Amino acid sequence: MKVPLFDLGRQHAALEKDLRAAFDRVFTSTYFIMGPEVEGLERECADYLRVPETIAVSSGTDAILLTLMALGIGPGDEVLCPSYTFFATAGCVSRVGATPVFIDSTPCCYNIDPARIEERITPRTKAIIPVHLFGQTAEMGAILEIAKRHDLLVIEDAAQAIGAEYQGRRAGTLGEAGCFSFFPTKNLGALGDGGLVATRDPELAKRLRSLRTHGSQVKYYHESVGGNFRIDALQAAFLRAKLPHLDASHAARRANAARYNRLFLASGLAAFPTAACVCLETQRPEPSQARSPLLLPFACQPTHIYNQYVIRVPGAGRRDGLRTHLQAKGIGSEIYYPLPLHLQKCFEPLGYREGSLPFAETFARETVALPIFPELREEEIDTVAGEILSFLGEAPPV
Ligand SMILES: *Cc1c(COP(=O)(O)O)cnc(C)c1O
Repeated sequence: MKVPLFDLGRQHAALEKDLRAAFDRVFTSTYFIMGPEVEGLERECADYLRVPETIAVSSGTDAILLTLMALGIGPGDEVLCPSYTFFATAGCVSRVGATPVFIDSTPCCYNIDPARIEERITPRTKAIIPVHLFGQTAEMGAILEIAKRHDLLVIEDAAQAIGAEYQGRRAGTLGEAGCFSFFPTKNLGALGDGGLVATRDPELAKRLRSLRTHGSQVKYYHESVGGNFRIDALQAAFLRAKLPHLDASHAARRANAARYNRLFLASGLAAFPTAACVCLETQRPEPSQARSPLLLPFACQPTHIYNQYVIRVPGAGRRDGLRTHLQAKGIGSEIYYPLPLHLQKCFEPLGYREGSLPFAETFARETVALPIFPELREEEIDTVAGEILSFLGEAPPV
């Protein structure tokens, strides 16, 4: 049985009528830039996120870039962020002329390790960008406390975590601003690119709106230099058709994750990284202490939205061997991310070396994402789990 990593066709088949109606609405209105669909999306996302202001933009990347611009971060500034994340988190910091400073991640939830943040703070540090990786929030309590103590801004990269929560508050609404992506494979995906910034600060919202359209509030009068960071009205309309189904799709992903966990744990070959979450405790196992041949994604937060279900396969070459096996069986998988950001060629001038951030480097070698999309069928999950267990059982670690 072939199992795809994603299958947007299944999601869209169920929503086809609504999506076509959304298209027709915009097509007939000829209102393609800004207007009622964009305003409607912003209002509905603000309700969903329980935050006063949202600003819909052209992509998740642009949401981060625009936020950095609106907060006045630029040359001479340093911004702390994880290394084990998608490129945009740090790429945007560089694009505004600031310097990304990379922090290692924790071995339980893959998020930025709050215990590693303070040692990298300097007089130039202006902000922290925690990333809520794979769909669960970083340890925001500790991060916000550090930020407060050192007078730093907190910009949440919530691209993978719309709807996840930290202690009852939505991801992306805890810091100065939260940045979301509507890339098609995110939990709320457009039929193209899109993004959103959420904030509780009305002044910041005003600056974001102005910078979204060339730094102008009155057409052709520019108070600052912005850009074109607008979302298409069509994408806004498609997203409005999908938003009412978002919570059900999160629930389906959680059920899929629970099924994987059950199957893997029952085999005796799998374990969670540590008994207790090191986000919350000080325990810090070395990467080599992970003995189980298969480490499962630990949900520190019950509101994990599983944008990805990422397993860890310790041992030299084991992850790549497993991937080859899955490929041969027609099972989709992906590596998020094969090279941590501190080792990317474009960041060479920053002077990191191999060994600088051991966990980020270990995850890049050992993790692989499995199919987790909401419409995945139970027998498909069983097939994926069965193939993984047969690979691990037959070729024990050396
Ligand atoms: C997807 C993603 C982005 C960028 O979003 P785009 O909409 O693709 O520009 C940024 N950060 C993280 C962590 C992401 O996963």
